Amino acid sequence: MHVAVVGGGVIGLSCALALSESGRRVTVFDDATGDPMPPASSVAGGMLAAVGEARTGEDALWSLLRRGADAWDRQLRRLGSEVVTADDTVLVGTDTADIEHLGTVADWVAERSGTLEVVGAAAARRLVPGAGPRIRGGVVVKGERAVDNSLVIDALRRCLEEAAVPIVRRRVDDLGAVDADRVVLAAGCGSEALWPGLGIHPVKGEVLRLSRGRYALPPPTCVVRALVNGRPVYLVPRADGVVVGATSYDGDAGDPQPQVGGVVDLLTDAMTVLPGLREYRLAGIQAGFRPGTADGLPLIGALDDRVVAATGHGRNGFALAALTGELIRELFDGAEAAPELDPRRRYQGGTA
Ligand SMILES: Cc1cc2nc3c(=O)[nH]c(=O)nc-3n(C[C@H](O)[C@H](O)[C@H](O)COP(=O)(O)OP(=O)(O)OC[C@H]3O[C@@H](n4cnc5c(N)ncnc54)[C@H](O)[C@@H]3O)c2cc1C
Repeated sequence: MHVAVVGGGVIGLSCALALSESGRRVTVFDDATGDPMPPASSVAGGMLAAVGEARTGEDALWSLLRRGADAWDRQLRRLGSEVVTADDTVLVGTDTADIEHLGTVADWVAERSGTLEVVGAAAARRLVPGAGPRIRGGVVVKGERAVDNSLVIDALRRCLEEAAVPIVRRRVDDLGAVDADRVVLAAGCGSEALWPGLGIHPVKGEVLRLSRGRYALPPPTCVVRALVNGRPVYLVPRADGVVVGATSYDGDAGDPQPQVGGVVDLLTDAMTVLPGLREYRLAGIQAGFRPGTADGLPLIGALDDRVVAATGHGRNGFALAALTGELIRELFDGAEAAPELDPRRRYQGGTA
């Protein structure tokens, strides 16, 4: 069987690797122009979050993210641990409302047997050296990792090259015209144009890349996710600094330029958490588009007898990439799609 994977972001590459390992002949088609939207995988912070993304009431997403973290244990054996930039996550808050919110999330997670530890201000500061005076306390999540998004893409491409899976730089405009027995639709925000009615909408977000100046404090060794007066910001370690993210707008779909206000908010909030970032270099500002769905869950399942969707991962595409590869392989081996992910049960339009 020859499978074409349309899309060469973290999801398409992960699916291609899983399918190739199970003996299928695979070709990846990737537009690679970044037009009209840069691939989300090229801007992502790379947090492999479950607790950090937990929202009370989102039980289905929570259990998927937990499984996603387990799948990463297996994926790291292929990609190598060098792609990991942090092993743990600390969630911190700056005022009473932030701390109450973190406490609510911590209770919700603890009820679902997620492991975490609620700590006061002094302990939070020990875990995040250089943390600002406004930090009032936090939640420590051991084992909630982050990866370097670019290193992951490079490692996946390397594994595919070793497995003789070609990555063809070509835009696909018609899935019916793709020369393959089966097709995996993994085109991120581009998926909607290829299967109208799928229900994918772009959610814009900005990240800043800060590199450490010569005399600046070293970056944190864990992911730091903060609420600053209710506004979320995160700091994700990189070898030479930190990625600060991320804003989130539903509008602005066609505009790849970062917004001034979003960048100012991120910088202000990041320096509230870690004042020493003032000494860092502003190495880059990027905007990207998350492939969002109405309920925040990805679409993983058959669209018809030939095309299978692996898209709509929203803000969690890295966290769910390894699991998505495994689920796609299981579908090709004959498994049923999970009802909560099955696009034929979920989406409103189209022909499936
Ligand atoms: C600011 C920001 C921060 C984020 N941080 C995190 C994070 O910390 N953790 C996390 O888990 N997730 C994060 N995400 C989300 C994550 O980046 C995405 O969910 C994930 O990258 C989606 O991957 P994808 O492969 O589906 O899509 P993409 O990475 O967008 O890749 C799709 C690919 O398909 C190609 N394509 C599109 N149309 C066509 C076509 N017609 N023909 C051929 N090729 C086509 C594109 O060129 C692209 O290469 C973040 C996203 C943003 C924007």
